[in-house]
Amino acid sequence: MATVKYHFNKHTLSYEQIRLSIRQRVRRILMHLITGVGIGVVLFLIATYFFDSPYERQLKKENKLLIAQYKVLSKRMDENQKVLNDLQERDNHLYRAIFNADPIPESVRRQGYGGTNRYESLLDMPNSDLIISTTQKLDVMSKELYVQTNSYDEIVELIKTKEERMNCIPAIRPLSVKEMKGMSSGFGMRMHPLWGDMRMHTGIDLNANAGSAILATGNGAVEAVGWDGGYGYRVIIDHGFGYKTLYGHCKAILVRQGQKVKRGQKIATVGMTGDASGNHLHYEVRVKNKYDNPAKYFFMDLTPEEYDEMMYISENR
Ligand SMILES: [Zn+2]
Repeated sequence: MATVKYHFNKHTLSYEQIRLSIRQRVRRILMHLITGVGIGVVLFLIATYFFDSPYERQLKKENKLLIAQYKVLSKRMDENQKVLNDLQERDNHLYRAIFNADPIPESVRRQGYGGTNRYESLLDMPNSDLIISTTQKLDVMSKELYVQTNSYDEIVELIKTKEERMNCIPAIRPLSVKEMKGMSSGFGMRMHPLWGDMRMHTGIDLNANAGSAILATGNGAVEAVGWDGGYGYRVIIDHGFGYKTLYGHCKAILVRQGQKVKRGQKIATVGMTGDASGNHLHYEVRVKNKYDNPAKYFFMDLTPEEYDEMMYISENR
């Protein structure tokens, strides 16, 4: 409401109303407007600095929820990783062991991702630590799951060939029970009967009369026959699946190279050719080109008690 202003006229001694020109009026109105807008802007700035708009409040609330959710996810991933570790452990030490497959080394299972720039795009985000560590966990887990899946596929293949495998791996004694006269030397370090020094004995020595039948201990193909230094006349059978057996000091060899043989088939006779101090069979089992204790493979024709006894004798105790 505009107030009417007066000024005192000394000449007429009376009050006269002050009349403003249009220009003055417009200027006055503009001045008021500018001041009003200015104060408004300042108040608005103060208000937005100290108080959130409803939209901002909503965003902040959402952000808080998202971070909490991320933390929960991260924790659940840790729990899943524990379950996965347990599966890996069982895979290596139980499932793969049953089928004689090598355990998958830690270095292959835990192979990380190369390059540090992988998560660079996440670095400039707020809470980047949490986001990167969670992403990383998921990546590692995906990779480990992939390795684990492949391992299970391999085991499935092994199961399919199990029957053939059971027929091929050496599983009986290489001499008939009637003809075997005991074991003169077990597997492992021993005093050599001819040379008198400590040496690794790569097989076991089974005593029998000259001419006793030597039997193939599993299905396979004859890899080599003939004279071989200290072994004398020997036969090597390749059983597949990484298994080979050797029969040494033979008197006569009854198979030829490349011939297919069945478990229990007579392949040679006992003798004392090569470095042998008496008639006996030197019998070796090689698994993936490593010597193993042959007595471990006599499980098919021994009772558990006989097996234990054989193992006891065969370990050179
Ligand atoms: Zn021997």
